[in-house]
Parts: sequence; C-alpha cells; structure tokens
Amino acid sequence: MAELLLAKGYEVFGVVRRSSSQNVGRIEHIIDRVNITYADLTDSSSIEHAVKECAPHEIYNLGAMSFVPASWNQPLLTFDVNCLGLLRLIEASEPFNSKIYQASTSEMYGNSYPEFKPISPYGISKLAAHNLVNAYRLQGRFICSGICFNHESPRRGNEFVTKKIANYAKNPVGKLRLGNLSASRDWGFAGDYVEAMHLMLQQVVPQDCEIASGETHSIRDFLDIALPDWKDKVEVDDSFKRKNEVNVLKGDPTKAMHMGWEPKVSFPELVRMMVNE
Ligand code: GDP
Repeated sequence: MAELLLAKGYEVFGVVRRSSSQNVGRIEHIIDRVNITYADLTDSSSIEHAVKECAPHEIYNLGAMSFVPASWNQPLLTFDVNCLGLLRLIEASEPFNSKIYQASTSEMYGNSYPEFKPISPYGISKLAAHNLVNAYRLQGRFICSGICFNHESPRRGNEFVTKKIANYAKNPVGKLRLGNLSASRDWGFAGDYVEAMHLMLQQVVPQDCEIASGETHSIRDFLDIALPDWKDKVEVDDSFKRKNEVNVLKGDPTKAMHMGWEPKVSFPELVRMMVNE
C-alpha cells in the first residue's frame, strides 16, 4: 500500500506498534520515504496523536489480528484491534473528515456466501467493524469496506498456508506438515488488491465492494504448481486442521472492475512468484 501511494506522489504516514525487537522488515526498502508514527490500535490516545500528527486525507486501515486460528487463542485482543481499533480511528479522524478504507474480509461469509455468517472470532470482529462502516457512512462519513478475499505475496506471514508451502518448496527439508488439503480459497496478488483499495477512496460516492479474483483453487491445486512431487513430501497433520473450517471461498470482482480495477497476476503466476522470491 505504501509503495503504491508513494508512486502516486502521496506523503505517506505509517503507523507502527512499538516493539523491543525490529518489526519494520517488510518496509525497510522505503522506510526513508515514509513518516513513521508510533501508535497502537488498542490505545485511543496514541491513535488520536497519530491522526493529529498526520491530518490525513485518506486512511487505509489494514491493521488487524488477521490469522484465523490465533483469533481463538486471543479473541478479546482480536476484537479490540479489529473492531474497536476501527472505531478509535473513525472518532479520532472525525475533525479532519478523513476518508477511510476499512479492510473487511471474506471470512465474514463463513460457509454461507453471499450471506454474512462468520464462524471465527476473527470473522465476527471484522463483521462488527463492517457494520460500523455502514452506520458511519449513513451518518455522512466517507468510509467504505473492501471485502478482500485472500491476498498473498512473498511478504505473507510464514504461518499462512501459501507462504508455508512456498518456504518449503524453496528448502524441502523433511516432510511438509499441512492440515486440510481440500479447502479452497480465492487467492489473488496483494499488489493488485491495494490498487482496488486506493480506487475505492477515489469514487464520488463511497460504497463497499468485494476485491477478489473470482476463481477458487484448493490447497492441492496450489501444491501442484508449487511442489509438483508434493504427494511424496506432504504429511497431513491433524493439528493444523480447523474445527470451524471455511471450506470454499470464491468472490465476485464485477463491482471492483466497474470501478476500473483489473487484477494483473494470475493464480499460477502468483504461486510461482511466491516460490521464486
Ligand atoms: P485464511 O483463509 O485467512 O485462514 O488463510 P490460511 O492461509 O491460514 O488458510 C487457508 C486454508 O488453508 C484454510 O482452509 C486452512 O484450513 C488450510 N490449510 C491447510 N493446511 C494448512 C496449514 O498448515 N496452515 C494454514 N495456515 N492453513 C492450512
């Protein structure tokens, strides 16, 4: 997101949580061009200070506790960051009338697409935030949700299945232990998805929109491209299986495309990019 905004000539402020260890590895290459401001979505006063310091025209709220299994271990933190965090941003930026992009998620559908019936604390916290977006928009704020389906890149966290497979494909030592191989996801390239997020804030009237490839592929499909001899190397490990599994996700990018969005990276290209980088 920061790379895209810098390329468009924006002055970019990035909110970073303070940590005793280094946590800006993924933006190291642009850190001199971004104004770093320290704040935490769980801490209202720090968010107020950050927003005052930036006086932002646009806010992209991509901050979240976003790993579904972890949301069962830290459900209260998940709600605080994912739902109340948005509320803190909305309230703090009210005097500046900042436009806000909220990162909603396909996990809000659970197994009931196109109805919202989330089945994890993560999905539920994001749906609560999604409803806040609708309510504040009715109050006159320029705020909208992009319902993003899984978006991946070589910068993906190591615990997500795509990155886990890509890491193993580069260094296939021992067996690769995975959970449910039959689950299907609508995977797209994060670099394409940030373009849709930006586009949504440039509309005359704010509206929610799905950001997706419109295709769905199973974990097996991902393995076929990333690791052609995976059948000899993958071991199914029940500890990675989920009790509340979202089996299939497939979105509809028609509305985003009407805004002028066009994803450029195909599924096989995405898999190869993740394995090769
Ligand atoms: P999510 O869709 O946001 O939860 O993204 P993940 O990459 O964590 O999971 C995508 C799908 O891969 C889910 O249906 C998981 O059950 C499935 N999966 C299978 N094996 C694994 C694994 O070892 N790790 C993870 N994270 N997911 C796995």
